[in-house]
Amino acid sequence: MSRTTQVVVIGGGQAGLAAGYHLRRLGVDFAVLDAQDRPGGAWRHAWGSLSLFSPAAYSSLPGRPMPAQVGAVHPDAGHVAAYLTDYERRYGLPVHRPVHVTGVHRDGRFLRVETGSGDWRAQAVISATGTWWRPFLPAVPGRADFRGRQLHTVGYGSPRDLAGLRVVVVGGGNSGAQIAADLAYGTELTWATRRPPRFLADDIDGRALFDAATARRRALDEGRTDTGGVASLGDIVAVPPVRQARDAGLLKAAPMFVRLDRGGVVWADGTRADADAVVWCTGFRPALSHLAPLGLRGRRGRIAMDALEGTRSVAEPRLHLLGYGDWTGPASATLIGVGRPARDAARAVADLVR
Ligand code: FAD
Repeated sequence: MSRTTQVVVIGGGQAGLAAGYHLRRLGVDFAVLDAQDRPGGAWRHAWGSLSLFSPAAYSSLPGRPMPAQVGAVHPDAGHVAAYLTDYERRYGLPVHRPVHVTGVHRDGRFLRVETGSGDWRAQAVISATGTWWRPFLPAVPGRADFRGRQLHTVGYGSPRDLAGLRVVVVGGGNSGAQIAADLAYGTELTWATRRPPRFLADDIDGRALFDAATARRRALDEGRTDTGGVASLGDIVAVPPVRQARDAGLLKAAPMFVRLDRGGVVWADGTRADADAVVWCTGFRPALSHLAPLGLRGRRGRIAMDALEGTRSVAEPRLHLLGYGDWTGPASATLIGVGRPARDAARAVADLVR
């Protein structure tokens, strides 16, 4: 059975909901298809102590400010999931779940969205599937030889799971720093980073990051010198637990090791550290396999985006990509940043389908 609507949004996390908010305001007929059985997107799967790098007031989707979390300046992931649940309900967004999209195909003047529970036909598609579902692991020699536990950010739960063990945390970004801080008290920790950790100033939060990403996009669009964006400020937001561990001298980073062996990790000069577990906080890639039938991937696996309408695919103008990072809108992979590109994408598809 195939259903028809004007627009299908794939993914019901924050990006998909922000798109839904604007589509509803524009009077477009649409459906959001989400693989999860409950609202909340990736936030449902985060580790126990994860806290936002911004206060609630700077972590809001369009229309509805995120309420503060009692007793916490930086809300936790459960608070975000509850906010998204409320957001979806409040605006009556038509989210169908669990519906896993397996492919998007051209079908005459429609795009056919293939799912495990029947197909949809739409005049336009907004893909908002996030990155959490495609963890990235670097190709470090000896990884398959290591006999201890290996997990990625997505599989990390709490320090209890690794208590008392010799743990190597890999990665100098926010996940690496937060998980290293989490593990600093109850494990024998080694924190390995490719370059010395770059902490942002303690008073910088998500709003400053949003401003930096926006200023960079503006400069590039106007042909001015690249301002460097968020990366120019540093790599790690000094949220309170990170600050505490850093200030207590517990977050000393080692350089990146060059290989693993059966029992641990080995550096270029031959020194080694025995390890029971390695936690790879090495990032994510966009979850785009459902778009493979459209054949859009160009150089380095990227889908070319329209320079003016930053969320629109050049080769398939009926497709918009939302929330995957700065290449789909400045700070679009953040709560505060996704609103604007969501509005632009919704307006563009509304113009297309009318
Ligand atoms: P997701 O939350 O991943 O939602 C995508 C949805 O699409 C999911 O429900 C998924 O199941 C569904 N989906 C995926 N594939 C399919 C498919 N084929 N068919 C149907 N459905 C599908 N941002 C901030 O603003 N502040 C922070 O403090 C912050 N901290 C972060 C910390 C970490 C560790 C990470 C990884 C990210 C953080 N971010 C933060 C960035 C960002 O806000 C989150 O990654 C957010 O979850 C992205 O939302 P999204 O809607 O793009 O993707």
